[in-house]
Amino acid sequence: MIKTLDIEPTTICNLNCPFCFGPKVEKRETEIDLQIWKDALLKFRNKGVENIVISGGEPLIYHRIVELVKYLKHLNFNIVISTHGRYKEKLFEVAPYCDWISLPIDGITPEISHTMRTDNYPVSEILVTASELKRKHSNLKIKIGTVATQKNIQEIIEIGNVLQDNSNCFDTWKIYQYTPRRKHKNQKEFLSITDKEFADLSNLISKTLPTEMKIVYSSNESRRNAYTFIYQNGDINLVNVGDNFDDLLVGNIGEFDKINFPKVNEILNTNHYSNFTNTY
Ligand code: SF4
Repeated sequence: MIKTLDIEPTTICNLNCPFCFGPKVEKRETEIDLQIWKDALLKFRNKGVENIVISGGEPLIYHRIVELVKYLKHLNFNIVISTHGRYKEKLFEVAPYCDWISLPIDGITPEISHTMRTDNYPVSEILVTASELKRKHSNLKIKIGTVATQKNIQEIIEIGNVLQDNSNCFDTWKIYQYTPRRKHKNQKEFLSITDKEFADLSNLISKTLPTEMKIVYSSNESRRNAYTFIYQNGDINLVNVGDNFDDLLVGNIGEFDKINFPKVNEILNTNHYSNFTNTY
């Protein structure tokens, strides 16, 4: 049964990361009303869902994000926001209601950071934000996320070294094997790393970095059949299904009673539980 929902209240983002698996649609008009979110998420809470991961698009661009997060906290969900961290003011507005905030570091040199995130935002700023968040909210936890691709694989040990020197800023470092899906699926040949390359990277990091650092390795296989996503228009999709990491539509939150829960239960496997509990 679903314990965790990933929600994308907006599809808009000001960056254009080449590995982004966000949606292709970038129109505000497709976003559903906050009240529809609230009604549906209350029903999911009553059905036993415990955790909500908010991403997008950039979730802090969603114009009613503060109200949404406050409401989710009122329903006593565990809340994770996955943000690029560029909208600091808004981030500090939602932080008191969050359990975890996920921030990205995908390169160390300005060149690789720019290739991965398409802007010139310095890594040092992400670390400052993480440190300020932890100082201000003692119970808040921080995850640093890194997507491993052909373009940045040579800098990932260096990211680990920087994180080791800043270990008070974060709680978990999660390294994702790039998955070609949705928006930039066509970047596959430029970005993909093989399962073996990802396993070798994991082994190298494990040997190189101190064991006290909590590092989670997220291979494509470990994310297969693991997630229930609700998109900005209310469509509910099981993702990473089958060989091509496809989406499988199972309903819409506007028609809660018609959601195909038997299909959800049939498709979600143990990855669904372990992905959340291994990380947060
Ligand atoms: S990966 Fe995140 S920050 Fe980058 S374009 Fe996609 S939604 Fe925006």
